[in-house]
This record gives sequence, C-alpha cells and structure tokens, in this order.
Amino acid sequence: MPIYRAPLRDFQFLTDEFLNVAQYKDVPGVGDVDTETVNAIWAEGARFCEEVLLPINQVGDKEGCTFKDGTVTLPTGFKEAYETYVQSGWTSFVCDPAYGGQGMPEWTNMPVTEMICSANLSFGLTPGLTHGAYNAIFLHGTDELKPRYLPKMTSGEWSGVMDLTEPHAGTDLGMIRTKAEPAENGTYKITGTKIFISAGEQNVTENIIHLVLAKLPGAPAGTKGISLFLVPKFLVNDDGSLGARNAVTCGSIEHKMGIHASPTCVINLDGATGYLLGEMNKGMKAMFTMMNAARIYVGVQGLGLGEVAYQNGAAYAKERLQMRAPTGAKFPEKPADPIIVHPDVRRMLLTMRAFAEGGRALVMEIALKLDLSHKHPDAKEREAADDFVQLMTPIVKSYLTDGGFENANLAVQVYGGHGYIAEHGIEQFVRDARIAQIYEGTNGIQALDLIGRKIPMGTGKYLRQVFYPMDAFMEQQKNNEAMKEFVKPLGKHITYLQQASLWLGAAGVSNPDDAAGGATEYARMFAMVYVGFLWARMAALALAKLEAGTDEKDFYEAKLETARFYIQRILPQSVGILATITNGAKSIMGMKAESF
Ligand SMILES: Cc1cc2nc3c(=O)[nH]c(=O)nc-3n(C[C@H](O)[C@H](O)[C@H](O)COP(=O)(O)OP(=O)(O)OC[C@H]3O[C@@H](n4cnc5c(N)ncnc54)[C@H](O)[C@@H]3O)c2cc1C
Repeated sequence: MPIYRAPLRDFQFLTDEFLNVAQYKDVPGVGDVDTETVNAIWAEGARFCEEVLLPINQVGDKEGCTFKDGTVTLPTGFKEAYETYVQSGWTSFVCDPAYGGQGMPEWTNMPVTEMICSANLSFGLTPGLTHGAYNAIFLHGTDELKPRYLPKMTSGEWSGVMDLTEPHAGTDLGMIRTKAEPAENGTYKITGTKIFISAGEQNVTENIIHLVLAKLPGAPAGTKGISLFLVPKFLVNDDGSLGARNAVTCGSIEHKMGIHASPTCVINLDGATGYLLGEMNKGMKAMFTMMNAARIYVGVQGLGLGEVAYQNGAAYAKERLQMRAPTGAKFPEKPADPIIVHPDVRRMLLTMRAFAEGGRALVMEIALKLDLSHKHPDAKEREAADDFVQLMTPIVKSYLTDGGFENANLAVQVYGGHGYIAEHGIEQFVRDARIAQIYEGTNGIQALDLIGRKIPMGTGKYLRQVFYPMDAFMEQQKNNEAMKEFVKPLGKHITYLQQASLWLGAAGVSNPDDAAGGATEYARMFAMVYVGFLWARMAALALAKLEAGTDEKDFYEAKLETARFYIQRILPQSVGILATITNGAKSIMGMKAESF
C-alpha cells in the first residue's frame, strides 16, 4: 500500500514565513485566527487522512461503485469514512456561521483539501462539490432558499452536485437542451438528461442538491440563455424535513479510467421541481462567481496527487537496490546501491518535489488572496486581491493538474516495472490524476480563458498584480550576493514571459489562430516563471534562516537545494516555450482537415 505523511511542516512554513499571515491579523476572518489552533486542526486532518482515508483508497479503486435499481453504493468503508468526516466537523469548516459553519478562512482549508486529495481523491469529490454548490447557493440563493438548504449542507447531512454537462454539450454549454418550464408558486419543472455528474447519486448523504443548468422557454440562444436551478433529490418541507422524492434520478454510472470510488452518473430530470438561483438567463454568470474557487480546488487535486506520488517515489528510491552509482559504489557493503544514487532518478524526484512544494506555495498564496478579495475592509485591497485571483485561477487549475499527472507518471517511472503493477497502488495515481486535466473546464480551455479574457483585461490590469511584485522583489534582492544565483536567471525569464505576453497580445489582434495556437504553451510558461518567482522568494527565506542559525538546518537546506534545482533545471525550459509560441500557428493550421 502507498505511504502518505501530511506535509505539516511545509504548511507552517508557508503560512508563518512565506505568506506571513500574521500581517493580516487585523483583517477579520483572514488573519485573526490563532495559528496554534490551526496547526492542531491540520494535525487532526492529517491523522484522518493517513489513518482513515488512505487505507480505503486502493479498496475503492478495486471495488468501484455499484449501481442497482437507480441506487448507487460506494465501496467498502466510504460511508463510514464520510460519517467520521462529518462528525469531526470538516464539512462546516469554512461555511458561514449564520448557517452553522465555523467561518474559517480558505487558506486554512487548502491544506486540509490537499491532504484529502493525497490520501483519497475519490472520497474528496463529494465534499468538494458540496462546497462549490454551497457557495453558489450562498451567493445566489433567495432568503427563502438559503436557510432551507445551507444548514444541512454545512452539517454534511446533505451534499451538493453540479449538473452542467449533456451528451452533446461539454465545453460548449451554450448548446444544452435541458428545459425549465415555469410552474406553480414560482417553481420550475426541469426536464432533460445530464451526463458525467460526479456524486450525482450515492448512499452517504440523506439528500443530494443538484445545481442544474437549463433553458427557459424563449431564452436567447447560446450561453446568454442559460439559467441555474436548485433541484433537490428529495423536496424539503416547510419545517425543513424531507418531503416527496423529486423526479431527478440516476440512470446509470460510467465505467472509467480512474477515481473509481466516485460515481459518475447519468442524471435524468423528468419534470423535476426546481428553484431559480440568481437571475433568469444569467446562470453562467452565477456559475462563474463560484468557478474560481472550484477551479482552484481542482488544481489542489493535482497538487495532492503530486505530493503523494513524490513521497512514494522518494521512499522507494531509498530502498530499491539496482546497479552502482556512476562515480563508484556508495554502499559497497550492499549487493547494489539504492537507486537514489543515480542522477536520473534524482532528477525525477527533484522534479516531483519542486512541483509539489512550488505548487503548494502557489495554492496557499491564491487561497489567501481569495480570502482577502472577499474580506479585506479596504475596497482597493479587495479589488487587487481579486485581480490576482482572476488572473491566476486558470494557471493554478492547468499547471497543478498537468503537474499532478506528470508527478504520478514520474512515480511510476521511479518504481520501474513495479510501478506498472496494480498491487503497489502507484499506477492508480496516474489514472486518478488524469481527470483533473479535463473536468471543470479542460486545460486547453483554461489557457484560452487566460489569453482571451484575463491577460487583456483592463489593458493589463490583472497582469500588474503579478509583474509589479516581481519587479519589487528583484529590486529588493539586487544587492544580495547570496541570492544572485536565483535572481539573475529569474530576471531573464521574466523578460521572456513579458516578450511572450506582448507577442500574444499582438497576435490576438492580427491572427486569432496564432494566439489560440500558443495558449497552452503560454499558460505553461506563465506558471513556470511565476513558480520560479515563488521559489526565489522561498530561497531568500531559507538563506536568511540558515544565516541567522536554526535548529532545522535540514529543512531549510532542502528548500534551498530544491529552489536551486528548479531555477537551474526547470525554469530554463521557458526559452524553448517562447520560441514555440512566437513561431505562430502556421504549422498547426497548415494541414487540411481531411489529411489527418
Ligand atoms: C469523471 C468525470 C467527472 C465529471 N464530473 C462532472 C460533473 O460533476 N458535472 C458536470 O457537469 N460535468 C462533469 N464532467 C464533464 C466534464 O466537465 C466535461 O467532460 C468537460 O467539460 C469536457 O467536455 P466534453 O467531455 O464534452 O469534451 P468536449 O467539449 O467535446 O471537448 C473535446 C476536446 O475539444 C477541446 N475543445 C473544445 N472546444 C474547444 C475550443 N474552443 N478551443 C480549443 N479546444 C476546444 C477540449 O479542450 C477537449 O480537448 C465530468 C467528466 C468526467 C469524465
């Protein structure tokens, strides 16, 4: 069975030193939480993930979900694990106290989410989706709907799911056919078929709240004619108790590549009673207000799997004995050296580690900005934080899910043939990680969102939230000799990124194919350079700590070594990407479709 140890020390480093959350102690609901309490909460979350969720991860993969007569049963142990999760209060962690929540900030929740995704991604989907649905109802529900639904979602007794996709409409939701007809008392009758609905049916919560995209009669064509509806599995009586079964049912579940313990459902709506969320025909807008958090959450799925893949690769590389080191035997008393002596194996492990720790810094930073964008008392600060979140969300989603998949692949490679064998549980990481690159908007669509909407916004208004802090950091470090090895290359690659941004901006106007053809590479380059910036900041902190003297020398030296690896071995790849982008789309678009 794979191993997993929650990276608690890294969470503390990021919050105490890297983000210095204490600087926001006067911002209610962001920095006014007691860090010792937070650390204790994380330790409790770690115990739950290591001892309860990890042991059922392979069981869930092997058994999968069962569908019989419209009901779905999760694999052995999942119902009990969910009950423990609920009893421990995790479902209410970041929910509003007005609905029974604990009102904790997002930055305290990200580590919990990461640990869950490392230990058992399938398990994490139900609470993750509920959190998204909760947010949508919280932001767009009427005063009647909110008290009726939110407390039970907060307590975890009810779950929430997203019903967007239809057989012919995935990326292009403007083509959906599900209909909503006005009915009595301001309700609607919803009819249509949704596919691929995660946790659309299961046996762990009493009620399932579907958030359904549908079209009203006479609605404008395309995305401008979509409305969002709340459709409960069981209708809810005025006193809050469960009423009649609604006409929203599960037709079947999919057999799929990974996340076997998360049921992917066909959902049939046969005149189901629904309630409008937000304004008519503004369903996409309503969905988008919660989409940032949802996309960041999917990014964290990649991070979680990337971390557990790294941990297992590293542990195996220290034990597996094969061949001798190129510079001579390192363990002559053993029949062979452990594979961790081989440069190629170390290259893979450091790539994985640099991704996991750099990705975590990225997640923690965006989580804090998400909190500030909602809760900072100064409107300007809220706006600046929101600009950062808007810009970085597609990058976080695509970079972390691509990196999570890459880490899982590398872990298989470190294990060699044994990684390909199911028993070790490593190939499961690859299968589980793959979906995160696809759902919640494919990574190709994230890249288009970045270049089409986020970069041009307000003639670079969003971009300033990234380039200004980079400039300030470079200025601050320019006379720091010890930082030269990080700052000099970083400065060069920031310039390349600016060149790519300018080129794409011009290309978007003169030939949209050039811009769209380079979008994915640009998103990758953006992430690569930005994470280089994060690594340089972490290196500066580690250097200062080592210079001042610390009894955690190993921790800070490892940070420094990983930063060095990132700057020397990963960041330089951005030059090649710049060349790819500026070569334009001619070679992509030249071939006739029929020649493929
Ligand atoms: C396991 C699983 C769980 C899911 N869970 C949910 C859920 O809970 N709720 C829900 O509503 N949906 C869910 N989905 C659906 C998921 O969000 C969609 O599969 C995804 O949005 C892509 O849609 P599609 O599969 O129809 O692919 P398509 O939209 O057909 O896309 C096919 C390919 O074309 C590319 N493409 C499409 N348009 C463009 C363009 N303009 N430019 C460039 N490339 C383009 C895409 O990037 C992709 O590579 C889930 C899917 C799976 C497999």
